[in-house]
Amino acid sequence: MKIAITGACGFIGSNFAHYMVKKYPDYDFVLIDKLTYASGENGFSDENIRELVDGRRVKLFKHDISDKDDMYDDLYMCHTVVNFAAESHVGRAMVNGKRHINSNDIGATVIGEVASDYHIRMVHISTDEVYGDIVDGSFREDMQFNPKNRYAGSKAAAEMNLNALKYPPHNLDLVITRSANNFGIYQSQEKFVHIIAECIAKNRPIPVHGEGKEIREWLWVMDNCSAIDLILHKGISGESYNISSHAELSNKELAELAVSKFGGTIQYVENRPGNDRRYSIDTSKIEALGWKPYAVGDNFLAVMTEIIDYYITKHRNKSS
Ligand code: NAD
Repeated sequence: MKIAITGACGFIGSNFAHYMVKKYPDYDFVLIDKLTYASGENGFSDENIRELVDGRRVKLFKHDISDKDDMYDDLYMCHTVVNFAAESHVGRAMVNGKRHINSNDIGATVIGEVASDYHIRMVHISTDEVYGDIVDGSFREDMQFNPKNRYAGSKAAAEMNLNALKYPPHNLDLVITRSANNFGIYQSQEKFVHIIAECIAKNRPIPVHGEGKEIREWLWVMDNCSAIDLILHKGISGESYNISSHAELSNKELAELAVSKFGGTIQYVENRPGNDRRYSIDTSKIEALGWKPYAVGDNFLAVMTEIIDYYITKHRNKSS
């Protein structure tokens, strides 16, 4: 089995590459990334996956997924492509959403076209943000999209274009995941958990937007990896799967959790326009496939604390 992983130098893609390379010693891997500012913890780097790449079983190509010729070359003889490549920063999309459309929609659609030409499975990594926010209850996979920021809009557009490729003459073997907010190692320094840890390490107040009431479901990235692995092998073609461990925390609660464990202070700053109030997704469908997350309840608190500690230690070591 040969698997292509796009966006493999970013946060979730690199965690998935580590997980798969270790779990499946008989598989070959083609890792693809444009190495943007979002690759590696500090940007423009293959550092997250460098140790995996041997040029034989695991190859890395610095390519843009919207370049169809390169994708024909990279996906040749692959059995599956897992598409993580995306412009994932919501705040950046508010300033300039063009790159989000290019990578998240056009790039994903190019991958879908090449995958359908090669008759291979495409696992497309989408997001719970395509549904928009919800005050009570949770979104099921068959519910209507209502994206409320440019990032989410570009991800929803990709899903529409890929969905169209499921039908003749393309007949794309497509499965889609929509996960909650992930946390874990190898995450860019622009993301909230990493920011919290950096502020604590550098004795700076942790910036929390507005009153910090926005609620997110936090999913440990390794639980997401096990879900994607399951969907890659057992997901039903044409279906979408929500992924979450339902650990709901407001941004204020998350910052307070970190402060209670490691010290530090919180500073409330002007809210981001369009900061969605609450995301929540129903996960019965993936649970029916047999998936169970590890990081729930006490395990969630233990893993979250460990991850914050990992970044604090990294920043303290860097500045000493
Ligand atoms: P990330 O920003 O950390 O990594 C994205 C990677 O894609 C980067 O390495 C970047 O260089 C690469 N990339 C961007 N455009 C590219 C292009 N045109 N061609 C090739 N490579 C390109 O993102 P992430 O947090 O790892 O997210 C991965 C995927 O998961 C995204 O599709 C995102 O929408 C989705 N997702 C993320 C979260 C989360 O909490 N991080 C939650 C739900 C869904």
